Amino acid sequence: MLGNLGENLTNTMKKLVGMSVIDKKTIKEVVKDIQRALIQSDVNIALVLDLSKKIEERALEEEPPKGITPREHVITIIYEEMVNLLGSEAAGLDINERPYKILFLGLQGSGKTTTIGKLCRYLQKKGFNPAVVCTDTWRPAAYEQLRQLTEEMDVPLYGDPNNKDALDLAEKGLKEFKNRKVIIFDTAGRHKEESDLIAEMDQLDDIINPTEAILVIDGTIGQQAGEQARAFSQATDIGSIIITKLDGSAKGGGAMSAVAETGAPIKFIGTGERIDDFELFDPERFISRLLGMGDIKSLIEKAEENIDEDIAEKTMNNMLKGKFTLVDMKNQFEMMNKMGPMQQVLNMIPGMGNKISKEASKMTEDKIELYKIMMSSMTQEEMENPKIIKQSRVQRIARGAGVEESEVKDLLKYYNNTKKTMKGIGKRGGRLGGGAMNR
Ligand code: GDP
Repeated sequence: MLGNLGENLTNTMKKLVGMSVIDKKTIKEVVKDIQRALIQSDVNIALVLDLSKKIEERALEEEPPKGITPREHVITIIYEEMVNLLGSEAAGLDINERPYKILFLGLQGSGKTTTIGKLCRYLQKKGFNPAVVCTDTWRPAAYEQLRQLTEEMDVPLYGDPNNKDALDLAEKGLKEFKNRKVIIFDTAGRHKEESDLIAEMDQLDDIINPTEAILVIDGTIGQQAGEQARAFSQATDIGSIIITKLDGSAKGGGAMSAVAETGAPIKFIGTGERIDDFELFDPERFISRLLGMGDIKSLIEKAEENIDEDIAEKTMNNMLKGKFTLVDMKNQFEMMNKMGPMQQVLNMIPGMGNKISKEASKMTEDKIELYKIMMSSMTQEEMENPKIIKQSRVQRIARGAGVEESEVKDLLKYYNNTKKTMKGIGKRGGRLGGGAMNR
């Protein structure tokens, strides 16, 4: 897939794994390799430079989390930054209304018809029975191609090769299939003038009022894909993009990154001519495959667990010693964000979860956010030694955070209560021979 890009990147990662030392020189060498591979795949130079700068800076400046070697750390950074290049999480289709109307757009030859077939098969496998409407009045063979494709899969098709009015076809198709769960509208991919094509898409968009407009783009055109996505998005709200022909395409990396830059999510990719050569696009999975790191996810998880453990361990130790500051409380909030209820964190101390969780369960997310804002208006000294926060400081903090003084006092009350309960736990924990964290 993607020509040599995958191979080049995998080789770079293997080289990185084999390096005896990881230092500035080796990091620069690896970044150069990545740059070369991406530029060969037609990724925009500015994007490549930005990416390599980020990788280099993070690799040189960030401390590897506990339990992670510098080598693993650099791999993680490369992986994360590459994922960022392609957007966020896998978006997929959320078929949440009936009928779910999908308007398919794309230039002729982009693979639109083939992709409609692929999507029908994909939806059938998910238990949906899609129907297709052909509004392409421009290409005589369009209806016939769709007819063969849909017939094989038992997908109902509405179309009329003698009707030359795309808008009329769309209206009739809509009526015909109004009780279906999913309706897919194929559209023309060519007109005499490009502006006519865009105008027709605009009108179809008005009539169909699609739940989702999907643009199909040929991945072999490289970074021009970005401009194409922008041109279509002027006519209709492009909800998502499918990039085709990524099998063996030398320029696919350019197409994907350029599209991601426009902000439209890539939802599926086409990886061959057969009906099943189609996959849900998941940036994380895609990049880890491209980098040849089957187990990269577990590596990342290990890193994240360690970050949490580090904070948890420090906070727990302070709690057990009865030395609980606002810094620890802030860490607690962070942990709650990451790990869910405080209960889980406190379960590390045998039999101790209950008391605190009552206190913590009163905390709503909004309140935690508010507390965090107030804490960011405090000085380091105040955070570490909250006793010094008297009236004048309360006033200043309230002003800085844009809240009422009573809210700052409320935060301090919560802190004092938590501290008191923590002290109790520390003593009991001590009697019990120490909590799990001390083992
Ligand atoms: P349309 O004009 O946009 O409807 O394009 P078609 O669906 O007719 O496809 C044009 C050509 O691209 C056909 O030969 C398809 O087999 C081919 N094609 C479509 N998708 C892919 C893909 O993901 N990989 C490859 N290699 N070929 C594809």
